[in-house]
Amino acid sequence: MPPLRIIPLGGLSEIGMNLMVFEYGDSAIVVDCGMMFPDAATLGVDVIVPDMTYLFDNAARVKAIFLTHAHEDHIGAVPFLVERIPVPVYGMPLTLGFLRDKLEEFSIDDIELRAIKPRDVVQAGPFRVEAIRVTHSIVDAVAFAIGTPAGTVIHTGDFKIDHTPIDGRSTDLATLGRYGEEGVLLLLSDSTNALVAGHCPSEVSIATALQTAFMNASGRIIITTFASHIHRIQQVIDLARKQGRRVFMVGRSLVDNAETAERLGYLRFPRDVRADGAEVDPRRTVILTTGTQGEASSALSRMAIGEHKHVEITRGDTVIISARTIPGNERAVAHMIDNLYRQGAEVLTWDMAEIHVSGHACQEELKLMLNLTRPKFFIPIHGTLRHLIHHARLAEQVGIPHGVVITNGQVAEIEGDEFRVLEERVPNGKVFIDAEAEEVPEIVVRDRQHLAEDGFVIVVAAVDSDGKLVRDPEIITRGLVHVDSNQEMLEELRRMLIGMFTEMPAEELRDSELLQESMRGMLKRYFRKTMGRRPMILPVIWEM
Ligand SMILES: [Zn+2]
Ligand SMILES: [Zn+2]
Repeated sequence: MPPLRIIPLGGLSEIGMNLMVFEYGDSAIVVDCGMMFPDAATLGVDVIVPDMTYLFDNAARVKAIFLTHAHEDHIGAVPFLVERIPVPVYGMPLTLGFLRDKLEEFSIDDIELRAIKPRDVVQAGPFRVEAIRVTHSIVDAVAFAIGTPAGTVIHTGDFKIDHTPIDGRSTDLATLGRYGEEGVLLLLSDSTNALVAGHCPSEVSIATALQTAFMNASGRIIITTFASHIHRIQQVIDLARKQGRRVFMVGRSLVDNAETAERLGYLRFPRDVRADGAEVDPRRTVILTTGTQGEASSALSRMAIGEHKHVEITRGDTVIISARTIPGNERAVAHMIDNLYRQGAEVLTWDMAEIHVSGHACQEELKLMLNLTRPKFFIPIHGTLRHLIHHARLAEQVGIPHGVVITNGQVAEIEGDEFRVLEERVPNGKVFIDAEAEEVPEIVVRDRQHLAEDGFVIVVAAVDSDGKLVRDPEIITRGLVHVDSNQEMLEELRRMLIGMFTEMPAEELRDSELLQESMRGMLKRYFRKTMGRRPMILPVIWEM
């Protein structure tokens, strides 16, 4: 019997771009295929997707893609996979609804999207996959029980154990328990909150805080949340209705998601709560919008600097940011909040009032998952290395000692009672994509960072056929020094370059590659010594 192979291509040692491959013999399935948003340092990059070379090289093996839920870190890279490997994609109706919108943007229309319900079973090659309902910060989230000839694997996806979810559909503990009873070979479980003690509060718990915030607002309410958080959007709509306010939705992703969710029956947005566009009393208005992370192009960020086409922030507005600030975005969010105050608004954030709860299981829920499934082996997923390690320790505490931390590109093999991690990794890493959906090579991104930080220098040396200078070298800099106030420095550099040319042996002068290298080396040392900077240096030899 061949071993069962587990190969993470993303999401293990980072937050975002989750992608797990399960392989048995000549067959493979993919669970989730997500993307990651770039940080401020990744200039000119729109999204980041996992390196899927391994899948492209083994395309014939791939039978299907299974999606746990519709968050971008789980579905965002699907277009990049199915455009090259057009296999069927399985997911819940909302997940496929959001994916369909995404595929349309890429003009991909030949992929089979197969809707599943919880407890449905799908056979894909040797894999028998059952969807198990879980609660999370988006509707229609599922875990998967994957039956293989080697045993059953449970992949939790993102989950929390919310006993009072907004739609009344809680995590299917019974099915998880049944699998535990029958015997689970391997559990892969969400590590996002592995460092947070206790239980994650229920989504309904924010209702009180939101209601208080709504009651205290004397003017307009502008509220932002994740555009995919249908339950949160529902809570805002319900609350607005109760208080006789009407809701405007502003921001494309929010409007699109709400439309899709409503069409599929996941969102109730009654006519009498819908704003009809006519100017209304600020005390009767709620603006629901995008921009929880201070993204420069988002509606809220534009409102904060007075550049939004339709909404102008005024004194008396209350802005509620009903979302956590994702690590890395703190500066952008703080900046946006300051701008909102400058416009006269009052701002409420998740750390001031209980207006947001996490969608991920905390320690006690993680222990419950481990205890219900009682797996023989355990691989923590969805987190940075620190999260994964702490989750493995947590498992040890509840008597599941075989937690193995693996990261992207590592191959875990299970054969009989043996669990091994192969020495060699498969290709893995980040692929940068720009706004035109074209790949940006990593070297280009590094060059941009380099240019942004230290600027560049171009040196043009005009030489004759013997490599002798025919005039003084020209030095052009950008983003490095102020040229006018640094004439002396540039003059010194010019003298050093001339010196270098006169001292060089005749045969070396004729080798233009060597000349360029010497110029680059000299300038590099000079800028490092005198300024502590490392500009990009472009030496040009111009043979006249
Ligand atoms: Zn999620
Ligand atoms: Zn996630």
